[in-house]
Amino acid sequence: MRIVLAGIGASRGMVLGRARLVQPSQFIIDETPLEPAEIEAEAARLQQALETAQSELRAIREKLHGALAREIGEFIDAHSMLLNDPELLTGLFDLVRRGRYRAGAALKLQRDRLAAVFEAMDDPYLRSRREDIDHVIGRVQSALARETSPAERQIAARVGTILVSDQIAPAEMTHLTAQGVLAAVCTGSSALSHSAILARSMRLPMIVGAHEALAVVHDDDLLLVDGDQGQVVVHPTAQDLARYRQHQRDAQREGRRLAELALAPTRTRDDCAIRLFANAELAGDVAQARANGADGIGLYRTEFLFLQRHHLPDEEEQFLAYRDLVLGMGGLPVTIRTLDLGADKADATGLALTTEPNPALGMRGVRLSMRRPALFATQMRAILRASAYGPIRILVPMVTNTIEMQATRRLIQICARDLRSEGHEVADQFDLGAMIEVPAAAIALPNLIRHIDFVAIGTNDLVQYTLAADRNNDALSELYDPLHPAILQLLSAIIRCGEKHAKPVSLCGEMASDARYTPLLLALGLTNFSMHSGALLEVRDAVSRCDRSRLRKLAPRLLRAEDRDALRRILAKA
Ligand code: PEP
Ligand code: MG
Repeated sequence: MRIVLAGIGASRGMVLGRARLVQPSQFIIDETPLEPAEIEAEAARLQQALETAQSELRAIREKLHGALAREIGEFIDAHSMLLNDPELLTGLFDLVRRGRYRAGAALKLQRDRLAAVFEAMDDPYLRSRREDIDHVIGRVQSALARETSPAERQIAARVGTILVSDQIAPAEMTHLTAQGVLAAVCTGSSALSHSAILARSMRLPMIVGAHEALAVVHDDDLLLVDGDQGQVVVHPTAQDLARYRQHQRDAQREGRRLAELALAPTRTRDDCAIRLFANAELAGDVAQARANGADGIGLYRTEFLFLQRHHLPDEEEQFLAYRDLVLGMGGLPVTIRTLDLGADKADATGLALTTEPNPALGMRGVRLSMRRPALFATQMRAILRASAYGPIRILVPMVTNTIEMQATRRLIQICARDLRSEGHEVADQFDLGAMIEVPAAAIALPNLIRHIDFVAIGTNDLVQYTLAADRNNDALSELYDPLHPAILQLLSAIIRCGEKHAKPVSLCGEMASDARYTPLLLALGLTNFSMHSGALLEVRDAVSRCDRSRLRKLAPRLLRAEDRDALRRILAKA
């Protein structure tokens, strides 16, 4: 029977595929004890599921290529090792043979036992390993629950799978496409989460906040995911499929139209030049940024380099990643943001303090870097070494005061001096910028701006901190409003302050990539936008339809507008 699930479209696109449920806690666990005659067959079923999980991991490993292969490979190897762990395996088969547990129940019990051991550990790094247990056991549970024949599984693999989960950790996102995942549906999460940001980067349609999904959807159900409408159709009808085919045709036509803009300059209707930069998290973003004519990288989120591994990347590893990024951009400016880890980003390195009571207000971004001077210096040395290969700008996240910027500039000077004396080539001069994402930094920008060379507005966080609405909590999505008058007034003040001091201002939060906001941002005076590279053409198209001088005249009225409707009415006059 056709069921429509409503959620929030976090990454656009329409996809047809088969469901794969990945939340171990949602599997129905049969707790009835085994009859003695069933024991060996159950042990064999468990063995089969373990082997399937191992071979899935091997298949992912083999398909990996490109710059991320090493990082993701390490992640997969760790899971593979865990699956082979004698303690885990002996425990599981003991539970089946001696305890008469069914395979699913044995997996659940073993997971709970190991999770308790990891959670009791003092070392935050070891404690964070608990997540791996969940992922590995979840994979075996999923293999166990798939009761389809190998032939059916092949067909399902051909249609592609749609992951249905409560949420997906950012570190998990990056290897979804290598697993043949076409789209993701989450019961929780939000469109501003880092996983959603990655999904947009990967052009992987994603629905978040589809609360009913795990209760309603079963493995191998046919799903139609509509990332534009924020809808999942379970068991779509012929009419839905016709709509899907029409969507494919329209998307292709629109894609061809936009492709013509790839090499066009970004200019408004009244011929004002606007600069569009790309945000980058993954190696593939660089190719797409160039293909879509980005003016450079406006934000490279280095934490993803850290999130995908189980050890801290050393100077050499970081240097190679930054150098490849700079070389990939062929002489265009690359803005590298220093580490923005915090307890809000699940972190495999164990660096973040996962037990902080208030992670979003805690030890994140530059605060964490300053608390760990050796770590900060390693990253800075790697960035400075990469500066020998092309223009680099350094961006500092979560800035609250001038002390943080002064300390960072001093660190740059010391690292540059040391590197030169060790014989490394380092650029003569660096632009140092601050992310303006804490209201205090936005309000006190006239003081801070003397200590920086450029400003990057991080609206994802600026909105959450100004409106006291968690960006990751979908229950607050109505309150989390980038068009709130307080936000527009802050944006306008930041842009004017940049103009007054002749320091470039860009906006690199998700707001910049939403073409519906382009006229408003132009009206407030923004000329530098940075967005995921998939949005560049659409925003260039939107810019070309705007008359900047007419829009600028509307700014005072827009800042007085009380709500969205009023904003719309004023903008309609441009
Ligand atoms: C922001 O806060 O707007 C931003 C660009 O940074 P992130 O989304 O990585 O927090
Ligand atoms: Mg931020």
